[in-house]
Amino acid sequence: MRKPWMRAALLAFALLVVPGHASAAKIVVDAGHGGSDSGAIGVNGLQEKTVNLDIARRLRDLLVQRGYEVVMSRNTDDFISLKGRVDFTNGQQPDLFVSVHANSYFNADARGAMVLYYDDAYPQSSYPASEEMKALTPESRKLAQQVLDAFVQTTGLENKGLVPSAVYVVRMGTVPSILVETAFLSNAADAELLASDSMRQTMALGIARGIEAYISPQSNVFPDLRGHWARDAVLRLKAQGVVEGIGGRFEPSRMLTRAEWATLLGRVFDLPVAKPAGSSCAGDGTVTGGVYGDGGGSCGAAGAGAGAYRDAS
Ligand SMILES: [Zn+2]
Repeated sequence: MRKPWMRAALLAFALLVVPGHASAAKIVVDAGHGGSDSGAIGVNGLQEKTVNLDIARRLRDLLVQRGYEVVMSRNTDDFISLKGRVDFTNGQQPDLFVSVHANSYFNADARGAMVLYYDDAYPQSSYPASEEMKALTPESRKLAQQVLDAFVQTTGLENKGLVPSAVYVVRMGTVPSILVETAFLSNAADAELLASDSMRQTMALGIARGIEAYISPQSNVFPDLRGHWARDAVLRLKAQGVVEGIGGRFEPSRMLTRAEWATLLGRVFDLPVAKPAGSSCAGDGTVTGGVYGDGGGSCGAAGAGAGAYRDAS
């Protein structure tokens, strides 16, 4: 039995070397236009930049209430270039980017909500996307669909669908990105809705619900995979117990060791555990402290680093 001070020292050491799990999913909320760029002007005189900022602030508040970390690309009536918005977002290293806009069209009958995202199935040669955004097409599409679904369900607005788009802010970033066109300022009924405080709040709620459907606020699993193209696949493997990470991180760019590769094979193919001669239970110790070495032993060996294989039972 160790002395109490020794146990305390070991506990303190463990707390220091094992990262906590306090980080929340991080969202960049982007209010479209601003300053000298008014955006669309509504049939009722509303300026799009003003509507966008108000809905974006409400969205920020709702997301913060839900436990997300939120940063806004602008919180004042200032002009920010499209590149400035993307550079800001890349610097923040968030989990996702959502831009808030209101629509306008020459046909005043057009109304409803749509969500824009970059889709590599519809590349436009004049508007090349970042490599990251090309790879992130499935994630951006999934985010766009969930936000559109929640938005339409919450607001009751007409569903104008998903729109694969080459607009700069959804094309040049490094994380799943969408642009929400809330409603049409060029349509009298929609413009009236956009002028309403309660409807702006409802719109913000719809976007927040969609984001929540896409990513949990407590989604702090492998923060070093935020925005990474392999994130979805890695999280699926984690859910199935194939990968574990180390210290709460995944370290996606480092090389596998032979022990980790063997562990992966064992888990994926559910291989039986080999028992050395003379031992009734020796399923631990094959992997120590590796990226995938926290799976528990099939002989019941506990603790980090024990167990080459997942329990087959
Ligand atoms: Zn706009």
